[in-house]
Amino acid sequence: MAARRLDGKAVAEVIKNELKVGVDQFRQRHGQVPGLATVLVGENPASQVYVRNKHKACAQVGILSFHHELPANTCQESLLHLVQELNEDVRVHGILIQSPLPEGLNEEQVMRAVHWTKDVDGFGPYNLGCLARGEPHFLACTPYGIWELLIRHQIPLAGRHVVIVGRSNIVGKPLALILMQKHPQANATVTVCHSQSTDLPGLTRQADVLVAAIGKAKFIRADMVQPGAVVVDVGINRLADGTLCGDVDFDGVAPMAGWLTPVPGGVGPMTIAMLLVNTLKAAHHQIKSKMGSRTDDPFPIQT
Ligand code: NDP
Repeated sequence: MAARRLDGKAVAEVIKNELKVGVDQFRQRHGQVPGLATVLVGENPASQVYVRNKHKACAQVGILSFHHELPANTCQESLLHLVQELNEDVRVHGILIQSPLPEGLNEEQVMRAVHWTKDVDGFGPYNLGCLARGEPHFLACTPYGIWELLIRHQIPLAGRHVVIVGRSNIVGKPLALILMQKHPQANATVTVCHSQSTDLPGLTRQADVLVAAIGKAKFIRADMVQPGAVVVDVGINRLADGTLCGDVDFDGVAPMAGWLTPVPGGVGPMTIAMLLVNTLKAAHHQIKSKMGSRTDDPFPIQT
């Protein structure tokens, strides 16, 4: 039996259509349009494509986008100054610093400089910390997208064993925190593996849901997957012939998995859709705080 497709591209389109309505309602109610600022430093071609796609997606749903492109030799102080300006700019509700920054810049310090109410990437210590405490504000876009993709395909998570390969701050770690939340659509039992895990195939074979976020082409082979498992491939790897492939050996795993994400067309489009969701959420939150509502209350993550 061939795996069913976890179609991120199709779900992302549905979410964008929902967002169009949400953005329009926001504009009518508040006379303002949600705004996202992106900051790209240097000329990394992959980053240029990612940023372009994010702007295109903003335009599709009616979110205003502001692009700041800085030369690779930008100093830390100028970058921090720009982040501060964006923190104070009332037209900007979300700020995205495109990673990786060129060598010599302190990425951690720049991410920390983004005010938590505009941290639509959810990478900052405040947002990651709130998630760890079970009171999330902004969820990091890729893990949020994976969660939403599973929910929208009605894949149950409660009580199931999710094995995540990869423990980065932007994918593996926040995804583990999301899926183990006390939340009716989470409540999973989560195992996180990394390069020092022993008997990785033994661990991955225990997964009802297996997530590969490693950054190594076709790393997850069929013999590492339990028959019928849900397999989510986060990896984006460019092969020597220029084609893209994931961290999962798609042709080997597809015949025996229950569900499988394609690359491209799986997690990637969901990441962008959730960035837009977070931007609209940020705009609502900033309007509410201007109107004098409490801003220390965690506003609920809607799924
Ligand atoms: P990182 O390089 O930050 O993390 C990779 C993780 O994989 C690390 O935890 C590492 O372990 C682990 N790992 C590496 N080798 C092995 C191994 N042999 N066995 C077990 N674990 C291993 O990557 P990211 O999390 O940033 O990204 C992962 C992939 O996802 C990349 O291909 C990236 O391009 C893609 N990506 C895709 C996105 C999308 O929107 N689709 C968004 C973000 C990323 P250790 O910690 O021990 O080093």
